[in-house]
Amino acid sequence: MKKSVPRNKECCRMQELRELQDYLMDKCQITKPIATTFKSVQCGRASYHTRKITMPIWIFDYSTEYQWCYMIHEVLHFILWDKMQYGGHGDVFKNWERNLLKEFGLSVTYKKAYIKTLNSSYNGDSYKML
Ligand SMILES: [Zn+2]
Repeated sequence: MKKSVPRNKECCRMQELRELQDYLMDKCQITKPIATTFKSVQCGRASYHTRKITMPIWIFDYSTEYQWCYMIHEVLHFILWDKMQYGGHGDVFKNWERNLLKEFGLSVTYKKAYIKTLNSSYNGDSYKML
């Protein structure tokens, strides 16, 4: 039988993603603050200049794993920028993304720059990324 994940209120889930952001920054020793906001936008973005992450609120219609994956992706842009002025979605980005996701029990396949499928080792579920 398939267990459904209980849904928290949206604000709690935003808080959870901000905590994930803090965790990733601590782990990678990123000290310059990043401000994350959740908005009704089509896709997320990371602005190196203003140090702002904009996350689309539609991600809350998807699984927790998908939300983590999205947050990790945006924060990773800052991690690589701060560490080595690396921008974009090249091989360095993908390798880091793959390793960070592994820590959360997630594995991915890529289609060009973006993740095509996300697999969770917790429940064996496979999610299609948009
Ligand atoms: Zn990106």
